[in-house]
Amino acid sequence: MKNFKKIILAAFTLSISVLLVSCNTQVGDGTGESTENPTAHTHIFGESWEKDEASHWKFCACGERNEEGKHTYNNKKCSVCGMMQASEGLSYQLKNGEYHVTGTGSCKDTSIVIPATHEGIPVTAIANNAFFRNESLTSIILGENIVSIGQSAFSDCTSLASVTFNEKLEKIEFGAFFKCTSLKTVSFPESIKLIGSNSFFMCSSLNSIKIPDNNCQIEIDAFKETAYYNSQKNWQNGVLYIDKYLIVADKENSPEKITVKNGTKYIASSAFRDLRYPTTEVVLPESIVSIGAYAFYGSSIVKIDLPQGLERIEENTFAYCHSLTEINITISVNFIGKCAFSAIPAENVINYKGTLVGWTEIVFEADALPFFTKIVCIDGEIDWSETK
Ligand SMILES: [Zn+2]
Ligand SMILES: [Zn+2]
Repeated sequence: MKNFKKIILAAFTLSISVLLVSCNTQVGDGTGESTENPTAHTHIFGESWEKDEASHWKFCACGERNEEGKHTYNNKKCSVCGMMQASEGLSYQLKNGEYHVTGTGSCKDTSIVIPATHEGIPVTAIANNAFFRNESLTSIILGENIVSIGQSAFSDCTSLASVTFNEKLEKIEFGAFFKCTSLKTVSFPESIKLIGSNSFFMCSSLNSIKIPDNNCQIEIDAFKETAYYNSQKNWQNGVLYIDKYLIVADKENSPEKITVKNGTKYIASSAFRDLRYPTTEVVLPESIVSIGAYAFYGSSIVKIDLPQGLERIEENTFAYCHSLTEINITISVNFIGKCAFSAIPAENVINYKGTLVGWTEIVFEADALPFFTKIVCIDGEIDWSETK
């Protein structure tokens, strides 16, 4: 065993020395002899390219750059580092020390590349309506510092066939890509946190959608009337899924009992909203970790068993469920949002699978529960009206 360790160590040392050869050769003083200093730092340059508007280079942790050079664009792409040549002439607005793109300005490109920076300042957002109804736009590549895409930013861009999101993008707001009828595929980055309501509504060619397994908030009708939505193969038991997300239930043709597919982790906002009779029961698998706001708002369910790992009940999740009389809450829940159970029947009972003390440790927002609620814990009961 000891010998084995030695061999591994020797192999490791050898491979490090091989990596360092190129650095060491630069230290020479021109005489062929290297100026040796055993305590000096030896550069280790990264494999991948670092880049800015003008040039690319490889980087050592000490700050030293290697192989630095200007971008060499060929068809708008640097043949060395792969950087896309940013579009020129776009219009910008300075907001809180950052640039937002507000429109095409004097730019005539039909393939637009948003830069990472403008005048040395990060470009962090696409403003509301920035490219609204730009029918000549065929592709968009977002710069690496974009965090949000504003309302209707690309709405009605009917020729837009390709969208490349960057790795810092967090928010896509209301109607951002509404009616982009040429768009066939979207793949969201790991950084995405919000896909706003109606954001891809009526993208009638959109048949491939990839959403990372990261508890992204998906709002109502984000993907309604897309080719994906209109394809029966993406629905099961009256419910539409995208990857680990349950998007929405079919309100016209829902069965009495909906059993959510095992392995589903996230229920989108408003997924079962206004779901009516005959549906009285929705069975959630233990794999569920989040349920979006308004998910069951106004629905006809009579009972709900919340899954083991659920931590938050968001605002209005079960509000106006006029038949909901049995609610089973697990001890993992630590937050109940405003109006989460508003206007449920007076005879409702909440069964809490923890202790009275555990219940008091939950964070409640305003009007989280109706005042008449009775909570049954494992070691006693609480009359909610007396605690308020
Ligand atoms: Zn170094
Ligand atoms: Zn380059």
